[in-house]
Amino acid sequence: MDVRVLAAALLDLVLPGDCAACGAPEPPWCARCRTELGPPVRPYLPGGPAVFAAGRYTGPLRSALLRYKERGRRDLAGPLGALLTALVDDVAGPAPLWLVPAPSRPAAARVRGGDHVARLCREVVASRPGTRLARPLRLSRGVRDSVGLDPEQRAANLAGRVRVGPGALPGDGAVLLVDDVVTTGATLRACRDALVAAGKQVVGAVVLCDASVPMIKTKA
Ligand SMILES: [Zn+2]
Repeated sequence: MDVRVLAAALLDLVLPGDCAACGAPEPPWCARCRTELGPPVRPYLPGGPAVFAAGRYTGPLRSALLRYKERGRRDLAGPLGALLTALVDDVAGPAPLWLVPAPSRPAAARVRGGDHVARLCREVVASRPGTRLARPLRLSRGVRDSVGLDPEQRAANLAGRVRVGPGALPGDGAVLLVDDVVTTGATLRACRDALVAAGKQVVGAVVLCDASVPMIKTKA
């Protein structure tokens, strides 16, 4: 094993009570990582919905998400959920609000020990009165992991394959979609379309990380 890989693995064995991103013994974020979080961004994604991100998919934010999502650090739902809560406070009023997580593929959720986005939503709900969680969205069979797909392939992969499951629809009030990373917006668009078709009002989406490619202006 590469010594750097080994060192990274050992850092991840540090007990809870470490910086969410780098493992230094300064929870929830060490001074250095804290200064490199954010700033919040609002990526432009043609076709919507309005997306608000806690920051770009880089630096400590990306490191913390990967530790949480891929390396079994479920306890990092606390500090990451707090970032989402601040974002929801910025974009939503005090009126009743429903959070709806983008659905994970069941096989991926099993590997990760549960739905990591729904867990983040529960952190937000616990700290915001009037905010509730609904999980009506399902991925139909045949949806592939989107890693490595280009924007058109991502859209085709999801077209018509996010559906509203039986029961569990949000009640009265606006709906805010929640996901961990936005890349092309194809997932969030498919989620919004499924909810709008079910008669729900979707006001936008909050995500932890913006991994979209900024639009490059070219001369006509
Ligand atoms: Zn740190």
